[in-house]
Amino acid sequence: MAIGDSLSVVHATKYYKKFRAVDDVSLTVHHGEFLTILGPSGSGKTTLLKLIAGFEQVSSGSILLNDQDITVKKAYEREVGMLFQNYALFPHMTVFDNIAYPLRLRKIAKADINHMVLNILKLVHLEQYDARYPKQLSGGQQQRVALARAIVFNPPLLLLDEPLGALDKNLRQQMQLEIKQIQQKVGITTISVTHDQEEALTMSDRICVMNHGRIEQIDTPENLYKRPENRFVAEFIGEINLIHGELRGVDKGCAKVRILGDLIAEVEAGEEVREKKNQSWLMAVRPENLQIAKEPSQFQNTVSVEVSETIYVGEAIKAKVKTKAGQEILVKIPAYMSDSISCGKEVLLGWNSKDATLLADEVIA
Ligand code: ATP
Repeated sequence: MAIGDSLSVVHATKYYKKFRAVDDVSLTVHHGEFLTILGPSGSGKTTLLKLIAGFEQVSSGSILLNDQDITVKKAYEREVGMLFQNYALFPHMTVFDNIAYPLRLRKIAKADINHMVLNILKLVHLEQYDARYPKQLSGGQQQRVALARAIVFNPPLLLLDEPLGALDKNLRQQMQLEIKQIQQKVGITTISVTHDQEEALTMSDRICVMNHGRIEQIDTPENLYKRPENRFVAEFIGEINLIHGELRGVDKGCAKVRILGDLIAEVEAGEEVREKKNQSWLMAVRPENLQIAKEPSQFQNTVSVEVSETIYVGEAIKAKVKTKAGQEILVKIPAYMSDSISCGKEVLLGWNSKDATLLADEVIA
């Protein structure tokens, strides 16, 4: 554990009978960082969060919080703040008493409790609501009270489990920004679990993508989107075209790949590509990185395609196009360019080497 790290999970594995729900997971969260665990249903997100919270015990491995080994500590001894989907405020207590509850439990002096609760009420913009009962609040307000209660005792770590899952879309987006702002103001290290990728991309400093109990990639939202390390991450986050290719060579950070029959495409590539020779490759390119070219010289790579379907999605047009080799490709272009991509039309698609990445496909035996 390096200085500046708040939480470390070290080779954690969790078995339920013979089933490995979390499989040799290691990760580190830095002080003040917002890390989201993202993955499909059943990938082990909640189990990992339960291991960190102390609701479940690891089968092997360890968990460290601020340099202390907390692996065998019970949940209540870990002093972690928690916010879950069903915020479970005490219905018979006022907002003030709900937030004061964890402080009274810790036998903090009354004057300090008043001060701490009023401070946190200001932070969540609910100063005027201290005497209300939960049922007299909106869903978003209740969630802010629950957040205040989770952080009022200055825990070293805040855990969020699908915290906004019960809210409608508009309110959810508003609360994402609010929670993120509050988290940054307080500077509390936070781990959140969600399967909403938009939420993860909006709120997180880094995202840990899980699949089958394992970590596929931990990275910043931008890197996960622009530089996915493998096929699972590329397909899980956003939309992407994956086109099979044969590696012809790598020179000065640029790979030459044969795709779609006889097209040699240039793709930005690092040394790792040169080292992994015995692979088949996928050229990955996001739909919005493909553009309509007027002439081949405009882009490093171009291919002629026929438009087979267009879908209007508000700010953009999504189009399915087909190459002469029969490869379907998804394209997304700004709506004001809709004239250039009508159904049945032949167009030239262009993209630059920096807008595509190479991913290893299955190993050739
Ligand atoms: P979701 O997004 O659906 O909540 P998740 O990624 O949070 O999924 P987990 O709840 O961590 O997934 O579950 C991971 C796997 O472990 C699943 O296959 C689940 O069925 C299994 N599992 C979880 N809890 C238990 C348990 N108490 N006993 C047995 N198996 C369990």
